[in-house]
Amino acid sequence: MTRIVDYELFEVPPRWLFLKLETADGTTGWGEPILEGRAATVRTAVEELLEGYLLGEAAGRIEDHWQTMYRGGFYRGGPVLMSAIAGIDQALWDIEGKRTDRSVADLLGGSTREHVPVYKKLVPERVDRIPELATDAVEAGYETLKLLTTYQTAPLESGADVDAICEHLSLARDAVGRAVDIGVDLHGHVSASMAPRVCARLAADDPAFVEEPVRPEHLRTLDRSATHDVPVAFGERLYSRWEFRPHLEAGRVDIVQPDVSHAGGITEIAKIASMAETYGARVMPSCSVGPIAHAASTQLSHHLPNAVTQPDLGEHYVDAYVDNADELRSENGRVTLPDRPGLGVDVNEAGVRDHAGTGSDWRPPVRRYDDGSFVEW
Ligand SMILES: [Mg+2]
Repeated sequence: MTRIVDYELFEVPPRWLFLKLETADGTTGWGEPILEGRAATVRTAVEELLEGYLLGEAAGRIEDHWQTMYRGGFYRGGPVLMSAIAGIDQALWDIEGKRTDRSVADLLGGSTREHVPVYKKLVPERVDRIPELATDAVEAGYETLKLLTTYQTAPLESGADVDAICEHLSLARDAVGRAVDIGVDLHGHVSASMAPRVCARLAADDPAFVEEPVRPEHLRTLDRSATHDVPVAFGERLYSRWEFRPHLEAGRVDIVQPDVSHAGGITEIAKIASMAETYGARVMPSCSVGPIAHAASTQLSHHLPNAVTQPDLGEHYVDAYVDNADELRSENGRVTLPDRPGLGVDVNEAGVRDHAGTGSDWRPPVRRYDDGSFVEW
C-alpha cells in the first residue's frame, strides 16, 4: 500500500482552495477543502491535519484517516474542521480510484443509475424575468429548477412579504406547468414564525421542495405542522451525521443537503445518506464550490440510491482548472459519470498554478436594512 508523501494547496479565484495529495508511487489525488470566505483558515486546518496525522501513512486507509482526523484532536466538528477533512477525504478517494483504475462510485459499491438530473438554479434579478428564465431552462432540457428568492423579508413581516415570495413560485409554475419540479430556496431569509405560513402558502403551487425555510439555528421550529405541507430540504450548513440525526428522527427534513466540501467529504456523506434512507429521506448533495467538488458530488449522486438531483456545474473558471470540463458538464439537464478513475476530474495543474494566490479572499457581502441594521446575505 503506497504512502502519502507530499501535498500542495492552491488558493484560487473566485473563492476556492484546491488540495493536491501525492503518494510514494507517484499517484496524485485532488480535493476541495474549502469554506467560502475562509480559504486561509481552512488551509491552516488542512496543513495541521496532514502534518499531524497523514504524511507517511498508507493512502488507502481512508476510513481510519477519517476517524483519526475527526476524533484525533479531541475537539471536533464545525464548518472549518469538517471542510478541511472533506477536501482531504476527496483526495484520498481520488487516489484510491486512480490506483485501482476504478471510479469512486464503483469503489462505493457501484452506480445505481445511468445519469443524474441536475437542477438549474434560477436567480432572477427582477421578478418579471422569472417566467422567461424558467421557460429557457426547461427548453434547455432541465426537469428540475431551483428558484432562489432573493427577496429579503422585513424585520417584522407582513402579508405582502408572504405574497411576494409566493408570487415568485407562481410565476415559474404558470410558465412551465406542473410536470416540472420547482424547488424554492428561502436561504434562511424568513423568520422562524413566518416560515410555516410561507410553506403553507407555497404548497398551492406544489414546490418540489422548500430549502432552508429557517436558518440552521432554528431548525427545531420546523416541528410546526404547516411546514409539512411541502417537502423540506436543508443541510448545506450541517456538517456531520450527528447534526442530521435529530432532524431525521423528528421528521423535520425530507431531503438532506450535505455539501461534499463542508460535511466531512465522501466518507461522511455516504453515511449521512444511508442514515437518511432509513427515515425515507432523500439526498440532494449541495455543492457550492468548484469543479473538483462537483466531480465528487457526481460520483456520490450516481452511487447513492436515495439521491434525487444535484446542482449543475458552475461555469466560473472551469475551463481554466479542468481539462475534461465537457465530461463534467450536463447535457439536457443530466450529468453522467466520466469514463475515468477516481473522482473523474482531470485537473489542469498548470491552469491552477497560473491563478494560485490571486483573488481567493472573497467574503460574503454585508447587507443592511434601511435603518442600518444587519441583514443576512
Ligand atoms: Mg441554499
